[in-house]
Amino acid sequence: MLQRTLAIIKPDGVSRNLIGTVVKRVEDEGIKIVAMKMIHMTKEQAMGFYKVHEGKPFFDSVTNFMSSGPCVVMVLEGEEAVTRYRKLMGATNFKEAEEGTIRRDFATDIEKNVVHGSDSEENAAFEIGYFFSALERVG
Ligand code: ATP
Ligand code: MG
Repeated sequence: MLQRTLAIIKPDGVSRNLIGTVVKRVEDEGIKIVAMKMIHMTKEQAMGFYKVHEGKPFFDSVTNFMSSGPCVVMVLEGEEAVTRYRKLMGATNFKEAEEGTIRRDFATDIEKNVVHGSDSEENAAFEIGYFFSALERVG
């Protein structure tokens, strides 16, 4: 099924010059980038994005991290894009991530794990709408 998903290169990925590496892995997988921009979220904007995690012990820390510097946000499109991009990213905890995944190769911490990807089509729809207007989505 053709799907869209929301991907983020997190502040650690941007500051460590990993934008090109992540984009290359996405393109090599045959997934299309249909929208892309750089943003620097406020704490409130990061809290809105990670609303599903409100109340969890890492909520304050992860929203501080996500608002600590610029991110690259992208809309990806392809067959089964949600799960295929999650597979490219690897597990949340990089120590458990499969070899060859972005997080296994580049994450330094359970929080500073370089990339985000929507975990379902339903959440992808919310997250894409959170960052992009219809006018910004190509294709
Ligand atoms: P993301 O939503 O960023 O793609 P994910 O879906 O793999 O990651 P989530 O459970 O949604 O993982 O957690 C969101 C983010 O919060 C993680 O990517 C990580 O940056 C941070 N995080 C998750 N669990 C922990 C934890 N136990 N301690 C610290 N930070 C955490
Ligand atoms: Mg998640």
